[in-house]
Amino acid sequence: TPLTIIITVIGVIAIVALVTVAVLQNRPVPQKYKYGIVLDAGSSHTALYIYEWPAEKDNNTGRVEQKHSCKVKGKGISSYAAEPEKAGMSLTECMREAEMQVPSRRHQETPLYLGATAGMRLLNIENREASDKVFEAVEKALQGFPFSYQGARILSGQEEGAFGWVTVNYLDDRLKQGLETTGALDLGGASTQISFVPHEYDISESPSNSVAFRLYGNDYNLYTHSFLCYGKDQVLRMALAHQTRSGPVTMSDPCFHPGYSVTRNYNALYDSPCVSERKPKEAPLNFTHTGVGNFFRCQEVVKTLFNFTSCKYSRCSFNGIFQPPLQGSFGAFSAYYFVMNFLNLTDSSIPLETVKANLANYCGTPWNQIKQQHPEVKEKYLAEYCFSGTYIVTLLTEGYNFTKETFSKIKFIKEIKGSDAGWTLGYMLNLTNMIPAEAPDSPPLPHA
Ligand code: AMP
Repeated sequence: TPLTIIITVIGVIAIVALVTVAVLQNRPVPQKYKYGIVLDAGSSHTALYIYEWPAEKDNNTGRVEQKHSCKVKGKGISSYAAEPEKAGMSLTECMREAEMQVPSRRHQETPLYLGATAGMRLLNIENREASDKVFEAVEKALQGFPFSYQGARILSGQEEGAFGWVTVNYLDDRLKQGLETTGALDLGGASTQISFVPHEYDISESPSNSVAFRLYGNDYNLYTHSFLCYGKDQVLRMALAHQTRSGPVTMSDPCFHPGYSVTRNYNALYDSPCVSERKPKEAPLNFTHTGVGNFFRCQEVVKTLFNFTSCKYSRCSFNGIFQPPLQGSFGAFSAYYFVMNFLNLTDSSIPLETVKANLANYCGTPWNQIKQQHPEVKEKYLAEYCFSGTYIVTLLTEGYNFTKETFSKIKFIKEIKGSDAGWTLGYMLNLTNMIPAEAPDSPPLPHA
């Protein structure tokens, strides 16, 4: 009958409505986030990172994660010394991207930092005025965006090393849980950093290599050192300068593939404080750089760039720099990762001897064959993997004293749980006070 049809229809509508209400009620409320932006002005390029964390957790205790990154087109800001405005302009595209990525209602409260590393440290040594002008231009450009601009500055080597260590251990959840920490190895274009917590009984002999932290109720005495000029681009300049010191017009380089040959400009090679003092008096305009591809001879060249003769402490890595015995496992990132990943050597189960054998084989491969095998890789990078791989192995073993046993404790990593390894996250966590000194839920002291 019509009545039963009407009752059935009403019944069905009622059930659908009830189910809909139930489903809606169970749907999680959309998460609200806060944001922070850090620009890493490295020696070879600048990268922008956007971090996000839950807005509704007390005192910003929620997990901070990388939401987005943007690679600035062109070279690092230090390369704009002669035309500083362009350094500012170069950042525009990534900053526009950041405006789109961060919801507009959050723009004004989102802190924005720029930290420059060894490329700008070198420019600052070489030409203070030019370095100041680059910062002025960058500052002006960044202030034109709606974020809460917090300044642009050069990080010290200690800060760069220590914040890289904070990042790695924060992302691994080691700090909050008070677990044994992981050391950090960072390789840039102009400097390289090593940071780790030594054994308690290995007391620090050098205050400039010590950083003390109290994080989540735990004390950490970190050893850290940054070697200026020992990033992979500057160390290559040093190797070339060493091999052309007597001014040959043709140089046979064991660190480049057999059949490799390019003309290089002497002035361009020596245009860096890392090598400028070594420039021969009567240098020709150009020299021919040819490869012979021999890993072991390349290692000998690289070893000459480390000074092992003087050490006023009980032990040193190289160049008279104090280093306590290595301790625990390590994460090696940035150019360590790029190079070892290209060479298929990131797997920590590969023994040191096999790494060396693979490198010897790779360096000995003719340049033509290398180019054919990797048509997709930029030639500048491709030509240098033999040198960079040899440098990495030599720095780790001869420089920092990793042995075949401790080498297997190094993990070559790009990121941890979706966030890139590097100093930027640690820097932001520190400046926004997002890692408390005391554990948030530490139990109250017992009554007497
Ligand atoms: P920085 O700009 O100081 O952070 O240094 C980064 C270093 O990594 C520079 O030496 C770059 O040339 C190098 N680099 C970046 N991407 C790659 C890549 N895909 N392969 C090899 N080296 C790279």
